[in-house]
Order: sequence, then C-alpha cells, then structure tokens
Amino acid sequence: MARLLPDYYAKSIFDVPMSFYKEQGITHVISDLDNTLDAFDVLLPSKRVVELAKKFSDHGITLIIITNNTEKRVKDYATALNVAYLYSARKPFPKKIIRFLNKNEIDRSKLLLVGDQLMTDVKCAKKGNFKVMLTEPIVKKDQWTTKFNRLFDRPIRKRYLKRGLLQKLEVPYGKR
Ligand SMILES: [Mg+2]
Repeated sequence: MARLLPDYYAKSIFDVPMSFYKEQGITHVISDLDNTLDAFDVLLPSKRVVELAKKFSDHGITLIIITNNTEKRVKDYATALNVAYLYSARKPFPKKIIRFLNKNEIDRSKLLLVGDQLMTDVKCAKKGNFKVMLTEPIVKKDQWTTKFNRLFDRPIRKRYLKRGLLQKLEVPYGKR
C-alpha cells in the first residue's frame, strides 16, 4: 500500500524553506493550483503566493503552475504571478506534462511536482517518474470533481499518517 507514497511531505508549500530545494538540487517546481496554492474559488493569487513566487524567483527556482483545471481558471492567476502554466493537464496521466517539459527543455531530475492530492498529483508523479511532494489541502472545500478523488485519497492518507510514513518524509521546516 506504499504505492502512492510521495518523496516528500509538507503540511503546506508555504512551510518549505528555499534551502530544501537547494539541497535537493531542484531548479523547477511544478505546482498544482487548487488547494495547493490557493482555494479553487480564489481567482487571483493571495499575498503569500505572491511572496512565495518572488522567493522562488530570487533563489533562481522556476515555478510553473500545472493544473487539471481550465485555462480560464489559471490564466489570469498565473499571469499575475508572471509564471508559466499548463492547464487541462490530465493528471494522473503524465503525457501532457512530459510533452510540456520536453518542449521547454526542463530536466526531469531537477524537477519537483507539488500537490495536495494522492489520486492526481502523486499518482501522476509516480507514472511520470518525477519527484513529488504531497501537501495537505489548504481548505476543506473542493470542486465536485475533486470530491470524488478525495474519497480514495482520505483513507490512504490516513493510513500513511497512522503508520508514521508521511511524517518520516516531512521536510523539517525552519531547521534548514
Ligand atoms: Mg489540488
């Protein structure tokens, strides 16, 4: 049942210090949008996301938003952050993401996928052979499509946490 175990775990992407990415040799972070950066109904980036994007850029790390949601959902959001994006990414299938990475000549070994869902984000990373960090969803509310995935996500995540598996992968924030 460790099939969907991520490489790293953090309560939130905002807890992860820049030194972590440096130490892991990560130059590109492909982040999920809904419930990883902001709630699905937050149309423009919140202040802490703006700050995070600036931090990444200051540290020479490229942030890219990769979402299963529509172009309409992500376009203005990503433009406000001045970051590249891929919409309708079809996670858990890695095909579109791989095509995007190849087109932009992004080295998969220096890449980290970050997302709040086991059934889309982590599963996609496993299939595509990307490193992946699982986070907790920012808020409890989800779009209806996500609600379905959560039914499968919740018991697996619970089991991982009960066995201490995710805690072992937790990025030690503030200590680096
Ligand atoms: Mg999400």
